[in-house]
Amino acid sequence: MMNIYDSLEPEAHIAPVLESELSDEEVLRELAASRLRLGDRVVVLGHHYQQDDVIALADITGDSLELAKHAAKLSDKTEYIVFCGVHFMAETADMLTAGKKKVILPDLKAGCSMADMANRFDIDKAWSFLTAHSKGKITPITYINCAATLKSFVGENGGAICTSSNAEKVITWGLSQGEKLLFFPDQHLGRNTCFKLGIPLSEMVVYDPRRQNGGLTPEQVQNAKVILWYGYCSVHQGFTTEHIQMWRKKDPTRTLIVHPECSFEVVQGSDLAGSTSFIINQIAAAPAGSKFAVGTEINLVNRLAAQFKDKDIQSLSPYQCLCTTMYRIRPRWMLESFRAIEKNQPVNVISVDAETRKWSLLALERMLAIV
Ligand code: SF4
Repeated sequence: MMNIYDSLEPEAHIAPVLESELSDEEVLRELAASRLRLGDRVVVLGHHYQQDDVIALADITGDSLELAKHAAKLSDKTEYIVFCGVHFMAETADMLTAGKKKVILPDLKAGCSMADMANRFDIDKAWSFLTAHSKGKITPITYINCAATLKSFVGENGGAICTSSNAEKVITWGLSQGEKLLFFPDQHLGRNTCFKLGIPLSEMVVYDPRRQNGGLTPEQVQNAKVILWYGYCSVHQGFTTEHIQMWRKKDPTRTLIVHPECSFEVVQGSDLAGSTSFIINQIAAAPAGSKFAVGTEINLVNRLAAQFKDKDIQSLSPYQCLCTTMYRIRPRWMLESFRAIEKNQPVNVISVDAETRKWSLLALERMLAIV
């Protein structure tokens, strides 16, 4: 299965020259000086799952869609966006800024394991099989956590993009468009949302691109209402029902709150499930003394615990559920990006071609019209 790195030229990667050159303190000092010199020309966007030292350097923080929307609203003075997130997020920012700003990802290896579980070749192959064995129309819906080429596929085939915040509305719309839904790349968000909308598990099947015809028979395709792609988030799949049972036994009064990228069993066993913004808002609005066990990325959980000291906020898992690809963005690589901009030789510029952008934006516009 191809992933984003397969298409990268080796020389596009930043050489790790700074490892021995500067201490961590010197990196931060140099970064501050470089930012002063560049002024309004550069804006740093930081995803909620970044580490504290990166978040401290961000001008704007948020989830993937919030950051992309901020990117679209930046003033004309901003020439460069240093995107502290992962590859698909930087692509979305590039598409929304319509080529007017250069979007830079400090480390090109900051990908997303879930996004890499679906590529255009496999989706095209699946689409041929599924449409050949479906009597009615299939509407494709993609989670925003995917490559631009998949967003483009959805735009070309009458579908829409969704986020974890608006998946219910987009899926409801998708179901009204035809007989079936193809949801990718995250099986869990698809399953959890469709179940919440009243679709029984017996009407959902999983298409596994590693198997012949996705592991499905024509009859299974015909009988299904929803076809879920096999993908998942390696971070959120790390939360298990054992963790739920552990907290229920240890502290039955604690609220268990999880992201819908967690498995069906974990979502069903929890008290609340919702997007990153939903989790943040629920915790922020809870009265002092509230206790939460949170099933999402550990950097965000730790930051919430530090921010809301009057509440007891723990990770749902006793193990570190860390997004290792987000973890690749370090102040050191950010400095390398800033130095390259100062030399007017930006590196790691993320750029989506015009055709892919056109169809992807159509899928994004459909989403915005629905929600
Ligand atoms: S947390 Fe999961 S979905 Fe989000 S970027 Fe990391 S691997 Fe991808």
